[in-house]
Amino acid sequence: MALVASPVFLVHYHEIGLKGHNRASFEHRLMRNIEFLCKGLPIESVSRISGRILVCVDRESLTGTVDDDGYIENGLDNPKVSKIFGILKGIPGVARVSLGWRTSREMDEMCQLAGEVLREAEPFTTFKVESRRSNTDYPLHTMDLNRQIGAYLCELEPDKIVRMENPDAVVHVEVIQGSTYIYARTQPGVGGLPVGSAGKFVSLLSTGIDSPVAMWRIIHRGGVAVALHFSGAPQTDDSSEYLVRDICDQLASVGGVQKLCIAKIGDYQKKIAQVVPAKLRVIFFRRLMFTVANEVARREGALAIATGESLGQVASQTMENIRAVDAVAEVPVFRPLIGTDKQEIIALAKELGTYDLSTQACADCCTLFLPRNPETHAKMSEVLELSEQMPFEQWALEICDNMQIEMGHCNIKQGWQVGLVR
Ligand code: ATP
Ligand code: MG
Repeated sequence: MALVASPVFLVHYHEIGLKGHNRASFEHRLMRNIEFLCKGLPIESVSRISGRILVCVDRESLTGTVDDDGYIENGLDNPKVSKIFGILKGIPGVARVSLGWRTSREMDEMCQLAGEVLREAEPFTTFKVESRRSNTDYPLHTMDLNRQIGAYLCELEPDKIVRMENPDAVVHVEVIQGSTYIYARTQPGVGGLPVGSAGKFVSLLSTGIDSPVAMWRIIHRGGVAVALHFSGAPQTDDSSEYLVRDICDQLASVGGVQKLCIAKIGDYQKKIAQVVPAKLRVIFFRRLMFTVANEVARREGALAIATGESLGQVASQTMENIRAVDAVAEVPVFRPLIGTDKQEIIALAKELGTYDLSTQACADCCTLFLPRNPETHAKMSEVLELSEQMPFEQWALEICDNMQIEMGHCNIKQGWQVGLVR
């Protein structure tokens, strides 16, 4: 009998599955994000099936030889399929991605396809079949499915051994609505929630290692970032502006960075340096950054500010200094890395591909006009007294009016929309 199998990805989610009546809106958002991020790749459709998102690959685009039964040998090793696999795993909200085939609910076809899928799992010694069915209108119980398909596979591969505990290969058989999905290839995704399911936030993005990771952490929980970068220009060169663009580009395959705002604050830092003693300047530079972030949040309708601070990492990140800066914020400040060690942050940055960019040398506004040993325990009374001598609110308006805003900046390279904001 001719076996007509179509290549598919099954996208599994976890936390979305826990949502009550909001669930459908989370699922739809994830589907739309998948469609956007996979644009240009051979995808036929993205749809919802019981507890999964089904991504159908365009069969015609697969290489490999079609055998007499219509099954495409090595079809899943196609480079475009691998690319889709890689993108899907990195999309926030995706807990696991499985790559396999769709066929009918006929037992003969299921068995044949299970045989092909098992062959794809080579090399292995032990295996088992794990079935699931979403409809009770399918007459066979999962135990019967396991037994019947397992018996067929044992006959087909007499040298292999069935093992229930930790087998080398698992052939998953899922009977969902009118079809059966069979796969052995499955890999964990990044988890989290779909981009756009939480609010918009202003992400203070430097060219350092920490802040891109912090921004990604909030994007990964569903946030949409308006990245805000402060450059020391014209008191420094503008090299950090190029680097921060590259960092946004690197994160483009995840989606979530809606725009990049670049604010040149070198001249304002100079004005601060004329009033504030060297030891306290870092606090004031950071208070200026937060005052500008408040204004950006107002203009963008953002609900929070995120930074890459980690407690005690540098002088500006002691509890006293964080308090002296935080007092300026008008919206909640998220510090997703506050309790994370540098080594863990570095490991995450390497996974995200931002580490090599973040370790490139460039002009940094943070070191401008600063002494070697800045104050680590700022006194609030002293900070407030000095603050009155400078019109920060007015400066923030000026800085925002002159800010360079790159809309959907991260879309340019790929030529598709990743903003995902509705
Ligand atoms: P990072 O590695 O992210 O630069 P850091 O360890 O160098 O962090 P700081 O320079 O104290 O720490 O900065 C703390 C946080 O302030 C950063 O994580 C970032 O969120 C924000 N920040 C610092 N410099 C800038 C900048 N030039 N533009 C935008 N945000 C910045
Ligand atoms: Mg920094």
